[in-house]
Order: sequence, then structure tokens, then C-alpha cells
Amino acid sequence: MDPFQHLILPLLFLLAMRIDTRRAVMFAPLAILPDFDSLFGLHRALGHSFVPVLVLPMIILLYAKYRKPEWLLSALIVQFYLASHGVLDMGGVAFLWPLVPEQFYFEPTITYSVDGGPIFGFQLAYGMRELQEMGTTSFLSDAGVALLFLGALMVAVFRMEARAALRTLWETILNALGRLFGWGRKGGT
Ligand SMILES: [Zn+2]
Repeated sequence: MDPFQHLILPLLFLLAMRIDTRRAVMFAPLAILPDFDSLFGLHRALGHSFVPVLVLPMIILLYAKYRKPEWLLSALIVQFYLASHGVLDMGGVAFLWPLVPEQFYFEPTITYSVDGGPIFGFQLAYGMRELQEMGTTSFLSDAGVALLFLGALMVAVFRMEARAALRTLWETILNALGRLFGWGRKGGT
């Protein structure tokens, strides 16, 4: 799955569920974080294994639950984004790396045929195979382009709402950056 889809699908899901827009946008880049394992030549293993995708965020989640309740929603969103990456990549992920170096794959396919009436078929391929070099993926696949087109169409239809949403998005980013670097409305010294 290309990075654009990894970014946009879980973000759209959280926005549709009306989960805290500010945090949903702020943490969205985490949804593509696992793919940076390709920098280490261990794509679909190092960043996609249960340790970064499940164990680490769970530790943060538990810490938040018992020590920092005000972090809980953020921790949940972080876990959601990281887990979403693993789920969207289920066509081939070494989830138990480094314990099990092989890649698990789970590929459900729904086929549709109109020969002799509409017939739906369902195929499921799953199992384990050797870790494959999947380092080169297009930044925007066919599906990514389709999503982008759909997004552009929706923006055209909902121009007013889109303008307001973009303004909120921009303010959110500025606020988050401001908090990060200590700029802010407090004014200079
Ligand atoms: Zn990935």
C-alpha cells in the first residue's frame, strides 16, 4: 500500500468518527512511520513487527492509563495509526520479526464475473513466505490516484466546508508547531 493511502485512510476514518480533529491530524504522520524501516534494508520487518506496532504503543497506552490520564486519547490515536499500518499491509508483513523472520500474508480477494449472470467469488490466500524485498513501492499507486481524485471531487462539491476545514487544519498545524518550538501567543520576551 502506498504511503498516501496509509496516511489518508486512517485519518479519514478518525475524522469521520469525529474523534478530536486536532490530535487526529497531529498524529497522522505516524501512520507512515513503519515504512521508514526501508532505510535500514529491513522493509516490512523492522518497522512492521509487533514491537513497534503493538508492544511500544501499548506500553505508552498503559503508562497513560495509570500515570497520565490526560495522555490517554493521544496514546489511543497513536496506537490506532500504528496498528492501521500493519492491517493495511497485511498482504505481507513479518509481524513476528525478529522472532520469526518470515513474512505472513493474508490476501482476501473478491472476484466478480458477469459471464452467465453476476457471480461473486471469494478467494483467500494466506500463509508464510520468505521475507520479500518490497522496498520499491510507488508513492502513489492506482488506488492512491483514485482516492486523490475522489478527494478533489469532494472538495469541489463541499467548497465552503473544505475552506473552513483547511483553515482549521492550518491553525492546528501552526498551534502544534508553536507548542513544539515555544512560539506562541504569549508574545516575545
Ligand atoms: Zn508498510
